[in-house]
Amino acid sequence: MLNVRKDFPILTKVHNGHPLVYLDNAATTQKPYQVIHAIVDLLEHHNGNPHRGAHILSVEASVAYDEAREAVCRFINAAHTEEVIFVRNATEGMNLITRSYAETHLKKGDKIVIPISEHHANLVTWQRVCRVTGAELVYMYLDETGHFTEDDFAKIDGKTKIVSFAGISNVLGMKVPAKKLIEKAHAVGAVAIYDGAQSVPHMKVDVQDLDCDFMVFSGHKMMGSAGTGVIYGKRDLLNDMEPFLLGGDMIEYVQEQTTTFNVLPFKFEAGTENVEGAVALHAAIDYLNTLGWDAIEAHEHELVVRALAGMKNVPHLHIIGSTDPDEKTGVIAFTLDGVHPHDVATILDSYGIAIRSGHHCAQPFGAHIHAEASNRISFYIYNTVDEVDYFIEKLKLVRKQMGYAD
Ligand code: PMP
Repeated sequence: MLNVRKDFPILTKVHNGHPLVYLDNAATTQKPYQVIHAIVDLLEHHNGNPHRGAHILSVEASVAYDEAREAVCRFINAAHTEEVIFVRNATEGMNLITRSYAETHLKKGDKIVIPISEHHANLVTWQRVCRVTGAELVYMYLDETGHFTEDDFAKIDGKTKIVSFAGISNVLGMKVPAKKLIEKAHAVGAVAIYDGAQSVPHMKVDVQDLDCDFMVFSGHKMMGSAGTGVIYGKRDLLNDMEPFLLGGDMIEYVQEQTTTFNVLPFKFEAGTENVEGAVALHAAIDYLNTLGWDAIEAHEHELVVRALAGMKNVPHLHIIGSTDPDEKTGVIAFTLDGVHPHDVATILDSYGIAIRSGHHCAQPFGAHIHAEASNRISFYIYNTVDEVDYFIEKLKLVRKQMGYAD
């Protein structure tokens, strides 16, 4: 197992007299000293407005920002650095793609195909595209344990222009058959979009190997700071798109009535860049690279095996999606009969355990599986088997505390 807790200052926190057990990593992750110090170093020594000045601080900020982009490029194995665009988060990434690509390329009669389990970032955005263009949003409904069916794949047909999906769902916690979905999309001439918010922090995602046309992810879910996310897009597609936001730095030449736009990636990065966010993401990538994907995946798998085995013995508990540890990543959503998810989370919080409750920004999926709200635990590199055992022990008390016999 990995042994990294000493790098994360927040993990020494004591809450309600108990050591903090942080199991809400799918929402956001904690930050190691390496990331915190990188931000402080930038702000103490190199803070300037990048790409805008000849003076030393502007130059140093530009170098830090550009190096971060190069680190992301290597991390996801993009073919060109200009295919990596910094945005605020995965949500802004999806808004950029839907506004600047889909709304100008789709028309009435076209289909957009997504799984029912998608996060609102990859769902509400498509509803708008449909309103604006007349295209139709079609869902792949999956089977009861969260697997894609042949019927689902058959939805990707000649009318389909977009296939968009999360590599790992933030509710099901299962890897989707990404390559198959992308191949199917390309076979019918559709564009494939990979939402990497829950996968990029946990596994090697290689955009050239996947052959996705676009990908988005958020830095804060992989130890970076909030406010920095990434869009990857194939160069030809990005070149062919209108800018999303307009203003400083994204222009080439501005006249009174018209403007020509900057080259990639700057065309999509209007306004002063979040340099400290980019630097934090760079430090987080270095940190993950030092640990290595094999060790990270083995660590999280061991936690999942332990959690699923323990949760099987909790009466009245139902896991959403597959219960096979070989299919589940470090995201496990569940319901407990007779107890509202907010009560489950509040009781566990009294023991120092932080878990998620609610609809997980996937309301259509909640409605589809008749679990409008649920709980979710999610792991990262610093969680331990002891924490999992402690969580199970306290979870077993929840129904009793609510007055049930078992
Ligand atoms: N997609 C998925 C699958 C997610 O889990 C999330 C965050 N829960 C998002 C997109 C949106 O991420 P952010 O809020 O950082 O934009």
